[in-house]
Amino acid sequence: MPATPAWPPKSLPRLHLRAELGEGARIDLDARQANYLGNVMRLGEGAEILLFDGKSGEWLGRIAEAGKKRMALTVGRQTREPEDIPDVWLAFAPVKRTQTDWLVEKATELGVAKLIPVMTQRTIAERVKLERLEAIAIEAAEQCGRTRLPEIAQPVPLAQLLKEDGRTLYFADEAGGEPVVSAFKPGAATILTGPEGGFTDDERAKIQAAGHAVPVSLGPRILRAETAALASLAAYMALAGDWR
Ligand code: SAM
Repeated sequence: MPATPAWPPKSLPRLHLRAELGEGARIDLDARQANYLGNVMRLGEGAEILLFDGKSGEWLGRIAEAGKKRMALTVGRQTREPEDIPDVWLAFAPVKRTQTDWLVEKATELGVAKLIPVMTQRTIAERVKLERLEAIAIEAAEQCGRTRLPEIAQPVPLAQLLKEDGRTLYFADEAGGEPVVSAFKPGAATILTGPEGGFTDDERAKIQAAGHAVPVSLGPRILRAETAALASLAAYMALAGDWR
């Protein structure tokens, strides 16, 4: 039974900080963060919040100074060590912006370690704005209690992704594949899902020729690209990840 965090109390807001955290540190917040805590969460001097920097775990912070546009925190004791997350990457063909935003938010909640936008022949996507996707992943991590952030990679062409061996490449293939219940195994894994238009036959042949690729089926129905990405990630977490 995965250890659902019994501490800290659910109610405390969580904030991701780029500053390195450690007991006794004093941190000045930027205007956006000060506005969030001061005006959105209506917190003042003495209020406790949880802090994480994506690397060193989670810490109990306290508002030491609260002004109109500025705020300073002091960092207290560590409340959680950095969590271990399964070594699963999601390589997805980007879709329309709102769907891609949604995919990144949900994949972060599901516990993905790395997100890789993959450019395929039928990928129809506006420019992938990494800063925007990082902001979405940070907000999702603040919400779901993660202390580590998923890495978001620069978009890569499919051919380059196929060179990345040393990891099992679970290729979600609507043309058919092994049921995930028998295919998904613990270990370094990359899940690959295609664009709305699917993979071309030429791409499918190149993927299948990659020694480390395992075609998997996500059932008898054709799922939308973002659904396929999240359904396969959820199935992986249940069968081979940290939901077991
Ligand atoms: N254009 C394709 C078609 O009409 O046959 C459908 C592509 S589907 C919208 C987008 C991607 O989701 C596919 O490339 C595949 O990676 C994944 N996918 C969707 N349904 C799937 C299924 N039942 N099994 C495996 N993968 C699936």
